Amino acid sequence: MAVKKKKEDLKQLAEKLTFKTKCLWDEMNDANREEAWELAGRYMNFLTRGKTERAAAQETATLLAARNFADMSAPGGLKAAGRSGGWIIHQGKLTGIFAPGAAGPADGFNIIAAHGDSPRLDLKPKCVYEETTSGFGMLKTNLYGGLKKFQWLARPLALWGFCALKDGRTADIVFGEEASDPVLTIPDLLPHLDRKAQRGKKIDEAIAAEKMNIPAASIPLGEPEDKDRLRLAVLKILHDRWGIVEEDMVSSELEIVPAGAARETGLDGSMIGGYGQDDRLSVFAALEALFSLKKKPPRPTLILIYDREEIGSYGSTGATGNFIEHLAARAFEAAGLEARWLAVHEALMKSNGLSADVEAAIDPDYKEVHEEINSARLGRGPCLVRYTGGAGKYGASEAGAEYMARVRAAFAREKVIWQSSLLGKQEEGGGGTEALHLAAYGMNIVDCGPPVLSMHSPFEISSKADLWMTVRAYAAFLKMESTFAE
Ligand code: MN
Ligand code: MN
Repeated sequence: MAVKKKKEDLKQLAEKLTFKTKCLWDEMNDANREEAWELAGRYMNFLTRGKTERAAAQETATLLAARNFADMSAPGGLKAAGRSGGWIIHQGKLTGIFAPGAAGPADGFNIIAAHGDSPRLDLKPKCVYEETTSGFGMLKTNLYGGLKKFQWLARPLALWGFCALKDGRTADIVFGEEASDPVLTIPDLLPHLDRKAQRGKKIDEAIAAEKMNIPAASIPLGEPEDKDRLRLAVLKILHDRWGIVEEDMVSSELEIVPAGAARETGLDGSMIGGYGQDDRLSVFAALEALFSLKKKPPRPTLILIYDREEIGSYGSTGATGNFIEHLAARAFEAAGLEARWLAVHEALMKSNGLSADVEAAIDPDYKEVHEEINSARLGRGPCLVRYTGGAGKYGASEAGAEYMARVRAAFAREKVIWQSSLLGKQEEGGGGTEALHLAAYGMNIVDCGPPVLSMHSPFEISSKADLWMTVRAYAAFLKMESTFAE
């Protein structure tokens, strides 16, 4: 008897003392699963329709307009936003959202920052050339963000773009997504002949960025004795389809992304596969969380969907820019307050921040790069990532202990199942997010997002259960009280 009693005591003790993650699927009832499936369906649609930062901003605006949010840049928009919330799209690529809370903005906001850009290939400003020997009119690409080059070869690709012409006209391009469209591709060398050119080299050096070019046309114009027949063939197609000439490409943003729709993944369909989940998974979850609020949360909300996170957040639409000050000031005005410098900056300093970005899930075939005790697992809920960076925490803003405790409490109140994670082993590599750029305003901020597999690849994998729970986590965050009330 005594022995058995001791065993039970240990079980109770373990229950009380240990921090265990939970498999969400074990915790979800049939209704929850149905919700997760429905949510994933809408999310996959969002992913498929919003493959660039511009397209994601447009999709976001469409969802906001359907929920009665106002375009704050339109006449009367600011006043309407004061009642039911609103958005500002800066330079077509950075979206700022404001929603009123029970309190005004003077004591701070609850701020979620995500990003709408993803690693991809851009077309260079001068990108059309002729490869006479092999017989192609070609397009030259330029890397954007940290991608593994070999993953982009020998697969269907689409062209999404935006052209701005000298006379003020603009043109949107989507090519390669409809079943009736051709797709584009970057050929790869056959294994029979890759021994010197690729096989013996380090994986990153095996494919040179300058060799990632697209054969865009193979039907020459004119007669055999004519010059530049294939180059002209490409330029003529661009002109016939979208009305642009070669110089217009200098004022265009032409992006090469994986072609095709996001798909349910796995024999059980429990996962979501698709391009651009870093970070549109967090973007979509943040929007859903905002829409799920039944009443005004204690504090006003700001959601920022930045651009250029994948290249270090530089530029006028990135998180190193000052757009957040502008959005916060507009929120003051929407609330009928004067947006004085000190008041706006004090509000930002008192804000609660959440850097909503995806986290690396443990890869089943490469467990050795993860430090398993502190790594994320797919299907175990959104990750609270106290610090990013590599060894030595370089570049990490690191959330403070008190703030971590408050976020934990907010999650517990709403029964959020979450996991604590770090990106990988200390000396394996590393990475950062936007958190440090918002932390510069003096606010508390922590990274929190769902885990994904194959991050930065053309087909990233997430869990339907994690999406579902991340919405709940972000909603719990938006309901957090002000720093001083708790
Ligand atoms: Mn990201
Ligand atoms: Mn990324």
